[in-house]
Amino acid sequence: MDKIRLGISACLLGEQVRFDGSHRLDRFLRDTLGRYIDYVPVCPEVECGLGIPRESMHLEGKPEAPRLITTKTRKDLTDRMVTWARQKVKELEHENLCGFIFKSDSPSSGMERVRIYGPSGMPQKNGVGIFAGTFMKQFPMFPTEEEGRLHDPILRENFIESIFVFKRWRELPESERQPKHLIRFHTEHKYLIMSHSPRHLSPMGKLTAEAGHTPADRLYSDYQKNLLEALRLKTTVKKNVNVLMHMMGYFKKQLTADEKRELLEIIDAYHQEHVPLVVPITLINHYVRKYEEAYLKDQFYLNPHPLELQLRNHA
Ligand code: SF4
Repeated sequence: MDKIRLGISACLLGEQVRFDGSHRLDRFLRDTLGRYIDYVPVCPEVECGLGIPRESMHLEGKPEAPRLITTKTRKDLTDRMVTWARQKVKELEHENLCGFIFKSDSPSSGMERVRIYGPSGMPQKNGVGIFAGTFMKQFPMFPTEEEGRLHDPILRENFIESIFVFKRWRELPESERQPKHLIRFHTEHKYLIMSHSPRHLSPMGKLTAEAGHTPADRLYSDYQKNLLEALRLKTTVKKNVNVLMHMMGYFKKQLTADEKRELLEIIDAYHQEHVPLVVPITLINHYVRKYEEAYLKDQFYLNPHPLELQLRNHA
């Protein structure tokens, strides 16, 4: 698998592009996740020509149409930033991105809860950075996250899982959009989708079943919309337990009474949040190999991203 193309706020990779020439290096993003990612760094403030060092700035006004104002000289940089951002997102359409990681709290790059100053001079944390907002308008369903939120193990797992799925989706050859490719993708991702959103499975299954009768472009775009919508819904312990119980059903006939009891105990321990998800998954993977369960062997739910990332190791 080629590396995943992902946009990122440049300062998170250690580039010294902040207003004072510093950076905000995130070692997990650069060194650990970076082994699987081909980052496309973007610094809106430098790329729109503001230079380093530069005066600091913040957002003012209404959350739906904030102004970007320098804090000391009160220069209004909004039009400059908006014009640049609109052009930049058009360029990014050709970068084959699978998502974006934004720097939190930035008036240019923050994805949510950015401070906006009102007439009282007191900030409200309900803004979106100007470039981040333009990006999300252009690519409304793409996986996006902020580096701060990625320290939360659940949000981190969800985001990284989403970009790996989106990458596999994007690898389906556009020139040969045949029903068989879609059917295979859907089959292999069935339980992964279920772990995010059981209710999306039925319309996606219906699209797949009608694959031969729907024009390919419409079919793929409807499926992608459903896929990205489903991935935006977070997995939970309850949803994972549901998937694990479904998977256990495949071994009904093969498992000995003792193996069944052990698997149920482990799923229950995960349900009680005494052990991480990797524990029942490892046991199911063991039975998949032992009993050569062909359907489960191809399920990405059992192997959605590299083990080294340790994303399912939290309880
Ligand atoms: S937060 Fe955005 S604008 Fe600020 S330095 Fe980082 S990449 Fe540049």
